[in-house]
Amino acid sequence: MGSFDFIVKSFTPDDLMLVVNRAVEKWRLSRETARLRTERDAHLLQLATEKSRLRTIMQSMADGLLVVNIDGQVVLGNAAAGRLLRCADGRCESAPLETLITKRNIYNEIQRLLQTREDTQLFLEWEPDEADNPGLPAALRVTLAPIRDEAQRFLGVVVLLSDISEAKEYERMKTRFISMVAHEIRAPIGAVESYLNLFESGTHLDDPAQIRAIARRCLDRTRALLALVGDLLEITRRDGPSVSKKIEKVDGARLLGDLIEFHRPSAAERGISIDLELRGDAHVIDADPGDVERMIGNLLSNAIKYNRDSGRVFVRLEGTPGQLRLEIRDTGIGMTPEETKRLGEEFYRVKKPETRAITGTGLGLSLVKKIVGSCHGTLEVESTPGEGSIFRILIPTGGGQTDGQSQKQR
Ligand code: ADP
Repeated sequence: MGSFDFIVKSFTPDDLMLVVNRAVEKWRLSRETARLRTERDAHLLQLATEKSRLRTIMQSMADGLLVVNIDGQVVLGNAAAGRLLRCADGRCESAPLETLITKRNIYNEIQRLLQTREDTQLFLEWEPDEADNPGLPAALRVTLAPIRDEAQRFLGVVVLLSDISEAKEYERMKTRFISMVAHEIRAPIGAVESYLNLFESGTHLDDPAQIRAIARRCLDRTRALLALVGDLLEITRRDGPSVSKKIEKVDGARLLGDLIEFHRPSAAERGISIDLELRGDAHVIDADPGDVERMIGNLLSNAIKYNRDSGRVFVRLEGTPGQLRLEIRDTGIGMTPEETKRLGEEFYRVKKPETRAITGTGLGLSLVKKIVGSCHGTLEVESTPGEGSIFRILIPTGGGQTDGQSQKQR
């Protein structure tokens, strides 16, 4: 109502209706204003909540996120990006883009997207050079995507950074493993093939002694190949979900004798002798015979492989009530304490000039370690570079048990 409405005057019913209508309209308008204000407040609150929720989600993401505006400035970066890119105080917002993304081709791709405003997503990999980027992950996957608002206006580029160092390392290990296996398998097959070629060409066919000698070499190679394939299957089986075992009474002395006779010819080729000493008379253990054979076979073949020409291998089996003790000593190349510390890691092989020509998968000792553990035994290693190594296995046989998982190395 206005001051005009308070002036005393005669009025008609129409005048009265006009005043009433105006008052009603004013009341309606003030109610509408109040409703709009409440709605706007609620909307603002919702926006603020959404903004803080988005910020919380962004900050708790494991992947790094950078938002680059159309001028190429980093206007937003989450905590993970700060951590992955080693930003000062963990914050990368407002840092120049080229100091964050130091990989030239990725930086150039971001600039290109900013210029072309293309609607494509790009997936790139970045393996930062440790010297130029200290502390950065060994490998990052970088995803680039354009940002558009609801009206499809181009706002900039979002950069997503994922640490894929572990996956890369796993991939590298797998490739290394496959090439190692292929290499290991190719050598004996190649040898057998060349022996068979001799037969095919008719050479030595009239000399039974030569034929037998060649057949024996073929057999040796084939057996070595089967042993390798066995190791590979065993490793994958043991790492599988369920391992079935057949526990039997295994006569360690007999098994050891058989294995020594099996390895003697290959040792003799390099003039290496093998001596066996049996002590005590309790040589029987409850175990999976395949496991015990694999365990002793691996140690024995290592003692020959890593020995010097005309070297010696001393094997001693001591069975006392409650414990079986096996010691395999060689006069070979030996190892430093740092090298022995890593023994048993899958694929670990000591790399030095003396081992360059010796083939292997680096799986044998990891298998031995697993088997010793499953027998509740312990594995000890003593080694001196240039002098030789002693591998010692202690397995409880019924009496007092030792801790299966510990590996003692000196
Ligand atoms: P592989 O012999 O197939 O390489 P192993 O797991 O049996 O794998 O052995 C791992 C590494 O340990 C070998 O590559 C070798 O460098 C070292 N090693 C094992 N046994 C001996 C030994 N008796 N003397 C010296 N080094 C050894």
